[in-house]
Amino acid sequence: MTLIAARNQRIGTENAFKIGPYITGLESQGHRVIKCNLGEPDFPLPAHIRDEVKRQLDLDNVHYCDPQGVLPLREAVAQDMGAKRNISITPDRVVVFPGGKPPIGFAQQIYCEPGDEVIYPTPGYPVYESFIEYVGAVPKPLHLEESAGFSFDGADLAPLITDRTKLIIVNFPSNPTGGVATRDQLEGIADVIKAKASPDVRVYSDEIYENILFDGQEHVSIASIQGMAERTILVSGASKSYSWTGGRLGWAVLPTVEEAMLFKNMNINYISCVSPYTQMGGVTALTSPLTAPAVQEMVDAFQGRRDVVVAGLNAIDGISCETPSGAFYVFPNIAGVCEKLGVIDAFDALAPDIQSQTSPASMFQMFLLLEHRVAAMDRRSFGAIGSEGRHFLRLSIATNIDDLSEALVRIEKASTDTAGFARFMKENTPPWN
Ligand code: PLP
Repeated sequence: MTLIAARNQRIGTENAFKIGPYITGLESQGHRVIKCNLGEPDFPLPAHIRDEVKRQLDLDNVHYCDPQGVLPLREAVAQDMGAKRNISITPDRVVVFPGGKPPIGFAQQIYCEPGDEVIYPTPGYPVYESFIEYVGAVPKPLHLEESAGFSFDGADLAPLITDRTKLIIVNFPSNPTGGVATRDQLEGIADVIKAKASPDVRVYSDEIYENILFDGQEHVSIASIQGMAERTILVSGASKSYSWTGGRLGWAVLPTVEEAMLFKNMNINYISCVSPYTQMGGVTALTSPLTAPAVQEMVDAFQGRRDVVVAGLNAIDGISCETPSGAFYVFPNIAGVCEKLGVIDAFDALAPDIQSQTSPASMFQMFLLLEHRVAAMDRRSFGAIGSEGRHFLRLSIATNIDDLSEALVRIEKASTDTAGFARFMKENTPPWN
């Protein structure tokens, strides 16, 4: 008998949180680390939302409440999500969670039998891949290519759909790439799903970045395409839109009330309910006329930073960076830097069992953090399966412009520090798990 159950070998993690101790360690030695690792807006929670949360606390709205989510919030979600997508949503199909993250694992537990297949974008939010093998399902990564603006179309999806497909996860605007899909692309994707997948296959559309779009673009949801709302689990939340990651507030719209009840039962089993005072803050966020200007101010700031950071990265020899259309990340290709610094050679020299736990981009990531004090994320952290030979970093631009400018200076310096990298490899042992 062993202490720990074998299934723990099959769950992944979100490394953006895992590198925290390295950062704390550097800071405790007096180093200033520029943190571009976490996906968290650096703006304060808009005052009108904060005031409502405080008011709810003063009303003593701090007790257990409906595990599905309080009715005023479910009504506000139904109204807001429905109006923006031109679909009809009833509050009995809305379920509220502590963030946009829990429904990812819940969906896999609710829909997948062992052997069922989950199609998911890679690079993508790590929690998609993390749960698949844990629930006994089979991962089917859908590669988002730099050459296609980190998006995909129906033709990319079609070969992955089989009669074992159970869930198809889509995420636009996307983490980590900021890619979005046009209405035409979504129509093509929907056509393929309707033609090839049974009506029981669910599309899990993670739209948590729905409000963070640049250059005047409007969010398009796959649920808005004819015949898709009845197959789609629509997910969003307060963390990114309102700079409220610590509020732990997210929601999903299920195609049927029966499915909503299963998600509600997951809440009952795991969390009982989301804090009611937070949920009432969510009602204010979704219904107040003060919200849109506050969100726009943040998005304008992200767009300005995006332009500075993308131009700065493209000016560095060995780095090329696409311009993201949404979210608050840039996803530079660092293949040239890995080549010229000797990272690829250093990786090739590692023992195979170490190689399988790291990548050249991961090695550069740790060099950048430990020697040049910039915290970024490696490609491997956004879906390890099939990530070999893909040399990218993710930098969050939800950091003030002075820090981002300093990060560019440090990345430039790191990108030419061949001697420093050689020394680093002598003194440090991958894979830094
Ligand atoms: N989905 C995506 C694509 C994300 O990037 C994140 C957070 O980074 C989440 C879901 C989870 O958000 P939350 O903090 O609301 O749980």
